[in-house]
Amino acid sequence: MHIQTAAVHTLRDFEHGAVVPPVHLASTFELDRASEEGEYAYQRGANPTRAQLETVLAALEGAAHGFAFASGMAATAAALSTLQVGDEVLLPASVYGGTYRFVDLVLPGRGVTGRFVDDLGALTDEDFTPATRAVFVETPANPTLRITDLRRIVELAHRHGALVIVDNTFMTPVLQRPLELGADLVVQSATKYLAGHSDLLAGAVTTDDDELAAALALAQKAQGGVLAPQDSFRLIQSLKTLPLRLERQQANAEEIVAHLREREDVRQVWYPGSHSAEEARIHASQATGRGAVLSFELAPALDRTRFLQALRYPAYAVSLGGVESLICRPATMTHEAMTPEARAHAGISEELLRLSVGIEDARDLLADLDQALEAAAR
Ligand SMILES: *Cc1c(COP(=O)(O)O)cnc(C)c1O
Repeated sequence: MHIQTAAVHTLRDFEHGAVVPPVHLASTFELDRASEEGEYAYQRGANPTRAQLETVLAALEGAAHGFAFASGMAATAAALSTLQVGDEVLLPASVYGGTYRFVDLVLPGRGVTGRFVDDLGALTDEDFTPATRAVFVETPANPTLRITDLRRIVELAHRHGALVIVDNTFMTPVLQRPLELGADLVVQSATKYLAGHSDLLAGAVTTDDDELAAALALAQKAQGGVLAPQDSFRLIQSLKTLPLRLERQQANAEEIVAHLREREDVRQVWYPGSHSAEEARIHASQATGRGAVLSFELAPALDRTRFLQALRYPAYAVSLGGVESLICRPATMTHEAMTPEARAHAGISEELLRLSVGIEDARDLLADLDQALEAAAR
């Protein structure tokens, strides 16, 4: 089954012939009075609606197990809670800000060390110590869209007995399937493309490993950061259009990238593979598309504020993946927790703008960008 069909048809045959699944709101479920057993017992541990969503999440990824959480951060925290006292996790310095905060402020209290490295692509055997139990990867990176070779990281990490956890939020299983490349855990902020309408906070974890799956089920039950039934249902419905939305968003993004590259008043345009031929080759070998997030800088002669004020369609807001285009300034809006030196080092200038392209008609988005660029000329 192809992914667009799986998104629509993984769940079937509901009571009364309904073509969409029911929502089960019960917090508690009756048990058999003799055996004291039941399919479900209490909503936090498992419930029918979340279970249906988790079936879809696993199916889209071709994974054995799927888990739904109340946010992307709850999903990431659950994945990292598989680490024990004394363990170390390697992460890219440019990792998502919330993940940085969790690793920097919360994990040390649990005896787990996070080591941030500038370039995961340059990782070698020397970077691993006996304590290194996991490597956390984001490819493409945010907002530079730099690419990391997943097969290479998997090979290195596994040789040293470390897990590979991939945050696949920017690609989704539509464009990249890290488990098939050997990764152990995939986390996603479902708030972004999976939900896709900027109206739902959720997270997902998928894995093929039964032991890791047991640890994630424990994280759901013991830490409780699970997705509620109504939100699980809404995500099931949103996922039905994920491949369709992303296809349109990506086509729009490709057009915008080509257009902005033609303009002399735009300085640089970053899009997966744009940093080097080598990164382009790696990305093409591990993903089937380049997604719908790009970043760019205006030429120095242009006024950024006037450009942003003149833009009609993209909302000036953090987040990404929604049907509506969003634009933000990473230095002040998403990567403000990094020091200015760390940002400069990661290639995130004060002027860089990140655009998450929506499903609007590309002609309107291009005309809007053009008129805003004209308005920004000093
Ligand atoms: C948004 C985001 C997260 C966190 O997800 P929430 O749903 O906001 O908790 C994690 N990783 C990436 C790459 C993100 O963009």
